[in-house]
Amino acid sequence: MSTPVLIIVVPCYNEEEVLHETVGRLDKVLHDLIDDKLVSAHSTVLFVDDGSRDRTWALIEQYSRSHDFVTGVKLARNAGHQNALLAGLMTARQTSDITISIDADLQDDTDAIREFVVKYHEGAEVVYGIRSARVTDTWFKKTTAESFYKLMHRLGVQIKYNHADYRLLSRRALDYLAEYKEVNVFLRGIVPLLGLRTAEVMYERKERFAGESKYPLRKMVSFALDGITSFSVKPIRLVTLTGFLFSIFSVFAGVYAIISKLMGTAVSGWTSLILSVWFIGGVQLLALGLIGEYIGKIYREVKHRPLYLIEKTLSSRSYVKETDA
Ligand code: UDP
Ligand code: MG
Repeated sequence: MSTPVLIIVVPCYNEEEVLHETVGRLDKVLHDLIDDKLVSAHSTVLFVDDGSRDRTWALIEQYSRSHDFVTGVKLARNAGHQNALLAGLMTARQTSDITISIDADLQDDTDAIREFVVKYHEGAEVVYGIRSARVTDTWFKKTTAESFYKLMHRLGVQIKYNHADYRLLSRRALDYLAEYKEVNVFLRGIVPLLGLRTAEVMYERKERFAGESKYPLRKMVSFALDGITSFSVKPIRLVTLTGFLFSIFSVFAGVYAIISKLMGTAVSGWTSLILSVWFIGGVQLLALGLIGEYIGKIYREVKHRPLYLIEKTLSSRSYVKETDA
Protein backbone atom coordinates (compact mmCIF):
# COMPACT_ATOMS: atom_id res chain seq x y z
CA MET A 1 0.00 0.00 0.00
CA SER A 2 1.42 3.41 -0.94
CA THR A 3 1.53 5.98 1.83
CA PRO A 4 -1.82 7.75 2.09
CA VAL A 5 -2.28 11.50 1.68
CA LEU A 6 -3.62 12.86 4.97
CA ILE A 7 -5.48 16.15 5.23
CA ILE A 8 -6.15 17.48 8.72
CA VAL A 9 -9.29 19.62 8.61
CA VAL A 10 -9.56 22.42 11.18
CA PRO A 11 -12.69 24.60 11.36
CA CYS A 12 -11.89 28.03 12.82
CA TYR A 13 -14.20 30.73 14.02
CA ASN A 14 -12.47 33.76 15.56
CA GLU A 15 -9.45 31.71 16.56
CA GLU A 16 -6.64 34.26 16.09
CA GLU A 17 -5.34 33.59 19.61
CA VAL A 18 -4.74 29.88 19.13
CA LEU A 19 -3.76 29.51 15.48
CA HIS A 20 -0.05 30.03 16.01
CA GLU A 21 0.14 27.21 18.54
CA THR A 22 -2.16 24.99 16.47
CA VAL A 23 0.03 25.34 13.39
CA GLY A 24 3.12 24.55 15.47
CA ARG A 25 1.67 21.41 17.04
CA LEU A 26 0.16 20.05 13.82
CA ASP A 27 3.44 20.77 12.03
CA LYS A 28 5.27 18.54 14.45
CA VAL A 29 2.70 15.72 14.38
CA LEU A 30 2.47 15.78 10.59
CA HIS A 31 6.21 15.79 10.01
CA ASP A 32 6.78 12.93 12.41
CA LEU A 33 4.16 10.94 10.52
CA ILE A 34 5.79 11.77 7.19
CA ASP A 35 9.25 10.85 8.53
CA ASP A 36 7.93 7.49 9.70
CA LYS A 37 6.34 6.93 6.28
CA LEU A 38 2.89 6.58 7.81
CA VAL A 39 1.49 9.30 5.59
CA SER A 40 2.53 10.83 2.28
CA ALA A 41 4.79 13.89 2.05
CA HIS A 42 1.90 15.59 0.25
CA SER A 43 -0.17 15.61 3.41
CA THR A 44 -1.53 19.00 4.48
CA VAL A 45 -3.50 20.87 7.10
CA LEU A 46 -6.64 22.57 5.78
CA PHE A 47 -7.93 25.46 7.86
CA VAL A 48 -11.54 26.41 7.23
CA ASP A 49 -12.28 29.98 8.18
CA ASP A 50 -15.94 29.97 9.15
CA GLY A 51 -16.61 33.65 8.46
CA SER A 52 -14.44 34.91 11.33
CA ARG A 53 -14.52 38.56 12.21
CA ASP A 54 -11.03 38.72 13.65
CA ARG A 55 -7.66 38.16 11.94
CA THR A 56 -8.13 34.41 11.52
CA TRP A 57 -8.12 34.45 7.72
CA ALA A 58 -5.20 36.87 7.49
CA LEU A 59 -3.23 34.50 9.72
CA ILE A 60 -4.19 31.44 7.68
CA GLU A 61 -2.97 33.21 4.53
CA GLN A 62 0.21 34.16 6.30
CA TYR A 63 0.89 30.63 7.53
CA SER A 64 0.18 29.20 4.09
CA ARG A 65 3.01 31.36 2.78
CA SER A 66 5.44 30.49 5.54
CA HIS A 67 4.53 26.80 5.94
CA ASP A 68 4.39 24.46 2.97
CA PHE A 69 1.80 22.17 4.46
CA VAL A 70 -0.79 24.82 5.36
CA THR A 71 -3.80 25.39 3.11
CA GLY A 72 -7.04 27.23 3.70
CA VAL A 73 -10.61 27.70 2.67
CA LYS A 74 -12.57 30.82 3.52
CA LEU A 75 -16.31 30.61 3.86
CA ALA A 76 -18.25 33.66 2.79
CA ARG A 77 -20.10 33.87 6.10
CA ASN A 78 -20.40 32.02 9.39
CA ALA A 79 -22.02 28.70 8.56
CA GLY A 80 -21.60 27.03 11.97
CA HIS A 81 -19.15 24.37 13.12
CA GLN A 82 -20.85 21.38 11.43
CA ASN A 83 -21.16 23.08 8.08
CA ALA A 84 -17.62 24.50 8.24
CA LEU A 85 -16.35 21.01 8.99
CA LEU A 86 -18.32 19.58 6.11
CA ALA A 87 -16.98 22.27 3.78
CA GLY A 88 -13.46 21.28 4.81
CA LEU A 89 -14.10 17.55 4.44
CA MET A 90 -15.68 17.92 1.02
CA THR A 91 -12.79 20.11 -0.13
CA ALA A 92 -10.28 17.62 1.27
CA ARG A 93 -12.11 14.73 -0.37
CA GLN A 94 -10.88 15.82 -3.79
CA THR A 95 -7.22 15.20 -2.96
CA SER A 96 -6.92 13.10 0.19
CA ASP A 97 -6.89 9.41 1.09
CA ILE A 98 -7.67 10.12 4.72
CA THR A 99 -8.93 13.14 6.65
CA ILE A 100 -8.79 13.88 10.34
CA SER A 101 -11.04 16.58 11.74
CA ILE A 102 -9.92 18.46 14.82
CA ASP A 103 -10.93 21.69 16.57
CA ALA A 104 -8.61 24.65 16.36
CA ASP A 105 -8.46 25.21 20.11
CA LEU A 106 -6.23 22.20 20.92
CA GLN A 107 -8.70 20.72 23.40
CA ASP A 108 -8.35 17.44 21.60
CA ASP A 109 -4.95 15.87 22.16
CA THR A 110 -2.97 16.12 18.91
CA ASP A 111 -0.90 13.07 19.88
CA ALA A 112 -3.93 10.90 19.15
CA ILE A 113 -3.58 11.73 15.44
CA ARG A 114 -0.77 9.23 15.17
CA GLU A 115 -2.92 6.49 16.71
CA PHE A 116 -5.74 7.37 14.29
CA VAL A 117 -3.38 6.80 11.37
CA VAL A 118 -2.10 3.54 12.83
CA LYS A 119 -5.68 2.28 13.14
CA TYR A 120 -6.26 3.25 9.53
CA HIS A 121 -3.28 1.15 8.47
CA GLU A 122 -4.80 -1.71 10.45
CA GLY A 123 -7.89 -1.49 8.29
CA ALA A 124 -10.30 0.93 9.96
CA GLU A 125 -12.02 3.47 7.73
CA VAL A 126 -13.61 5.46 10.51
CA VAL A 127 -11.69 6.13 13.73
CA TYR A 128 -13.47 7.85 16.60
CA GLY A 129 -11.62 9.94 19.13
CA ILE A 130 -13.20 9.19 22.51
CA ARG A 131 -12.72 11.49 25.47
CA SER A 132 -11.50 9.37 28.35
CA ALA A 133 -11.82 12.15 30.90
CA ARG A 134 -13.74 15.36 31.00
CA VAL A 135 -11.80 16.81 33.88
CA THR A 136 -11.57 20.24 32.35
CA ASP A 137 -15.24 20.54 31.45
CA THR A 138 -17.53 22.28 33.90
CA TRP A 139 -20.06 20.28 35.91
CA PHE A 140 -22.80 21.85 33.82
CA LYS A 141 -21.26 20.89 30.49
CA LYS A 142 -20.56 17.37 31.69
CA THR A 143 -24.07 16.64 32.93
CA THR A 144 -25.83 18.25 29.99
CA ALA A 145 -23.59 16.36 27.56
CA GLU A 146 -24.21 13.10 29.40
CA SER A 147 -27.98 13.49 29.35
CA PHE A 148 -27.77 14.36 25.67
CA TYR A 149 -25.96 11.12 24.82
CA LYS A 150 -28.39 9.11 26.93
CA LEU A 151 -31.40 10.74 25.34
CA MET A 152 -30.03 10.16 21.84
CA HIS A 153 -29.54 6.47 22.61
CA ARG A 154 -33.05 6.11 23.97
CA LEU A 155 -34.32 7.71 20.79
CA GLY A 156 -32.49 5.09 18.78
CA VAL A 157 -29.69 7.24 17.35
CA GLN A 158 -26.39 5.35 17.42
CA ILE A 159 -24.02 8.08 18.43
CA LYS A 160 -20.70 7.30 20.11
CA TYR A 161 -20.52 8.12 23.78
CA ASN A 162 -18.09 10.94 24.54
CA HIS A 163 -17.09 11.37 20.93
CA ALA A 164 -17.20 14.82 19.41
CA ASP A 165 -15.96 15.65 15.96
CA TYR A 166 -12.40 14.45 16.43
CA ARG A 167 -12.19 11.56 13.98
CA LEU A 168 -10.50 10.00 11.00
CA LEU A 169 -12.43 9.29 7.83
CA SER A 170 -11.15 7.39 4.83
CA ARG A 171 -11.78 8.57 1.29
CA ARG A 172 -14.50 5.96 0.99
CA ALA A 173 -16.18 7.23 4.14
CA LEU A 174 -16.19 10.73 2.64
CA ASP A 175 -17.63 9.43 -0.62
CA TYR A 176 -20.43 7.78 1.32
CA LEU A 177 -20.91 10.89 3.40
CA ALA A 178 -21.28 12.98 0.26
CA GLU A 179 -24.31 10.87 -0.62
CA TYR A 180 -26.15 12.23 2.40
CA LYS A 181 -27.86 15.24 0.94
CA GLU A 182 -29.55 16.49 4.07
CA VAL A 183 -29.44 20.13 4.97
CA ASN A 184 -29.56 19.63 8.74
CA VAL A 185 -26.11 18.13 9.12
CA PHE A 186 -25.34 16.25 12.31
CA LEU A 187 -22.15 14.37 11.51
CA ARG A 188 -22.04 12.44 14.78
CA GLY A 189 -25.33 10.82 13.84
CA ILE A 190 -24.51 10.19 10.18
CA VAL A 191 -21.00 8.70 10.45
CA PRO A 192 -22.12 5.56 12.36
CA LEU A 193 -24.61 4.91 9.56
CA LEU A 194 -21.92 4.62 6.90
CA GLY A 195 -21.40 0.95 7.71
CA LEU A 196 -17.62 0.98 7.51
CA ARG A 197 -15.04 -0.69 9.70
CA THR A 198 -14.47 1.46 12.77
CA ALA A 199 -11.95 1.80 15.57
CA GLU A 200 -11.63 3.97 18.65
CA VAL A 201 -8.81 5.95 20.18
CA MET A 202 -9.02 7.28 23.74
CA TYR A 203 -7.60 10.67 24.59
CA GLU A 204 -7.81 13.24 27.32
CA ARG A 205 -9.79 16.37 26.64
CA LYS A 206 -7.92 19.45 27.73
CA GLU A 207 -8.60 23.06 28.50
CA ARG A 208 -8.96 25.40 25.54
CA PHE A 209 -5.46 26.65 24.65
CA ALA A 210 -6.66 30.26 24.41
CA GLY A 211 -9.77 32.26 23.63
CA GLU A 212 -13.34 31.44 24.60
CA SER A 213 -15.73 28.71 23.60
CA LYS A 214 -17.60 29.53 20.41
CA TYR A 215 -20.39 27.30 21.60
CA PRO A 216 -22.45 29.32 24.05
CA LEU A 217 -25.44 27.66 25.73
CA ARG A 218 -27.72 29.01 23.01
CA LYS A 219 -25.77 27.17 20.29
CA MET A 220 -25.47 24.03 22.43
CA VAL A 221 -29.22 23.82 22.87
CA SER A 222 -29.90 24.35 19.20
CA PHE A 223 -27.24 21.75 18.33
CA ALA A 224 -28.86 19.20 20.63
CA LEU A 225 -32.34 19.92 19.31
CA ASP A 226 -31.06 19.62 15.75
CA GLY A 227 -29.39 16.33 16.57
CA ILE A 228 -32.56 14.89 18.03
CA THR A 229 -35.04 16.08 15.45
CA SER A 230 -32.77 15.25 12.49
CA PHE A 231 -32.60 11.63 13.46
CA SER A 232 -35.71 10.69 15.29
CA VAL A 233 -39.44 11.14 14.95
CA LYS A 234 -40.01 9.67 18.40
CA PRO A 235 -40.63 13.07 20.06
CA ILE A 236 -43.51 13.65 17.69
CA ARG A 237 -44.95 10.23 18.52
CA LEU A 238 -44.64 11.00 22.19
CA VAL A 239 -46.65 14.17 21.62
CA THR A 240 -49.33 12.22 19.79
CA LEU A 241 -49.46 9.68 22.60
CA THR A 242 -49.73 12.37 25.26
CA GLY A 243 -52.47 14.06 23.25
CA PHE A 244 -54.31 10.74 23.08
CA LEU A 245 -54.06 10.15 26.84
CA PHE A 246 -55.27 13.65 27.53
CA SER A 247 -58.29 13.19 25.27
CA ILE A 248 -59.30 10.05 27.14
CA PHE A 249 -58.78 11.83 30.44
CA SER A 250 -60.90 14.78 29.31
CA VAL A 251 -63.83 12.44 28.57
CA PHE A 252 -63.81 11.29 32.20
CA ALA A 253 -63.37 14.86 33.35
CA GLY A 254 -66.36 15.86 31.21
CA VAL A 255 -68.52 13.13 32.69
CA TYR A 256 -67.47 14.22 36.16
CA ALA A 257 -68.32 17.85 35.36
CA ILE A 258 -71.79 16.93 34.12
CA ILE A 259 -72.53 14.79 37.15
CA SER A 260 -71.44 17.51 39.55
CA LYS A 261 -73.54 20.02 37.60
CA LEU A 262 -76.60 17.75 37.96
CA MET A 263 -75.95 17.40 41.65
CA GLY A 264 -75.71 21.15 42.02
CA THR A 265 -72.12 21.31 43.24
CA ALA A 266 -70.56 22.80 40.08
CA VAL A 267 -69.12 26.12 41.30
CA SER A 268 -66.63 24.49 43.59
CA GLY A 269 -64.83 23.00 40.59
CA TRP A 270 -63.58 26.37 39.42
CA THR A 271 -59.99 25.96 40.65
CA SER A 272 -59.43 22.60 39.07
CA LEU A 273 -61.02 23.86 35.86
CA ILE A 274 -58.67 26.80 35.58
CA LEU A 275 -55.73 24.57 36.40
CA SER A 276 -56.54 22.05 33.73
CA VAL A 277 -57.11 24.77 31.15
CA TRP A 278 -53.63 26.03 31.84
CA PHE A 279 -52.13 22.58 31.85
CA ILE A 280 -53.70 21.46 28.62
CA GLY A 281 -52.85 24.80 27.07
CA GLY A 282 -49.24 24.19 28.00
CA VAL A 283 -49.17 20.72 26.59
CA GLN A 284 -50.72 21.96 23.38
CA LEU A 285 -48.13 24.67 23.06
CA LEU A 286 -45.37 22.15 23.57
CA ALA A 287 -46.87 19.91 20.93
CA LEU A 288 -47.18 22.80 18.51
CA GLY A 289 -43.60 23.77 19.14
CA LEU A 290 -42.35 20.29 18.39
CA ILE A 291 -44.42 20.03 15.26
CA GLY A 292 -43.07 23.40 14.24
CA GLU A 293 -39.56 22.08 14.74
CA TYR A 294 -40.14 19.37 12.16
CA ILE A 295 -41.93 21.67 9.77
CA GLY A 296 -39.03 24.08 10.03
CA LYS A 297 -36.74 21.23 9.03
CA ILE A 298 -38.88 20.36 6.03
CA TYR A 299 -38.91 24.01 5.09
CA ARG A 300 -35.13 24.23 5.10
CA GLU A 301 -34.82 20.88 3.37
CA VAL A 302 -37.09 21.78 0.44
CA LYS A 303 -35.34 25.08 -0.13
CA HIS A 304 -32.12 23.21 -0.78
CA ARG A 305 -29.93 26.12 0.03
CA PRO A 306 -26.17 25.58 -0.13
CA LEU A 307 -24.73 24.67 3.26
CA TYR A 308 -21.72 26.89 2.83
CA LEU A 309 -20.25 29.19 0.24
CA ILE A 310 -16.54 29.02 -0.40
CA GLU A 311 -15.12 32.46 -1.04
CA LYS A 312 -11.44 31.62 -1.49
CA THR A 313 -9.20 28.57 -1.54
CA LEU A 314 -5.49 28.59 -0.87
CA SER A 315 -3.17 25.96 -2.18
CA SER A 316 -0.05 24.83 -0.43
CA ARG A 317 3.22 24.75 -2.30
CA SER A 318 3.82 21.13 -1.49
CA TYR A 319 0.54 20.10 -2.95
CA VAL A 320 -0.75 22.17 -5.86
CA LYS A 321 -4.10 21.31 -7.35
CA GLU A 322 -4.62 21.73 -11.09
CA THR A 323 -8.00 23.32 -10.49
CA ASP A 324 -6.57 26.30 -8.62
CA ALA A 325 -6.36 29.53 -10.53
N1 UDP B 1 -16.36 26.81 15.20
C1 UDP B 1 -16.70 27.10 13.88
N2 UDP B 1 -17.85 27.81 13.64
C2 UDP B 1 -18.68 28.22 14.64
C3 UDP B 1 -18.34 27.88 15.99
C4 UDP B 1 -17.18 27.17 16.23
O1 UDP B 1 -15.99 26.76 12.95
O2 UDP B 1 -19.69 28.86 14.34
C5 UDP B 1 -15.12 26.04 15.47
C6 UDP B 1 -14.19 26.64 16.52
O3 UDP B 1 -13.32 27.57 15.95
C7 UDP B 1 -13.48 25.42 17.06
C8 UDP B 1 -14.51 24.31 16.92
O4 UDP B 1 -15.49 24.79 15.99
O5 UDP B 1 -12.36 25.07 16.25
C9 UDP B 1 -15.18 23.98 18.24
O6 UDP B 1 -15.67 25.14 18.86
P1 UDP B 1 -15.42 25.48 20.40
O7 UDP B 1 -14.06 25.05 20.80
O8 UDP B 1 -15.74 26.91 20.60
O9 UDP B 1 -16.53 24.56 21.08
P2 UDP B 1 -16.41 23.76 22.48
O10 UDP B 1 -15.12 23.02 22.46
O11 UDP B 1 -16.44 24.81 23.53
O12 UDP B 1 -17.59 22.86 22.48
MG1 MG C 1 -13.33 23.75 22.10
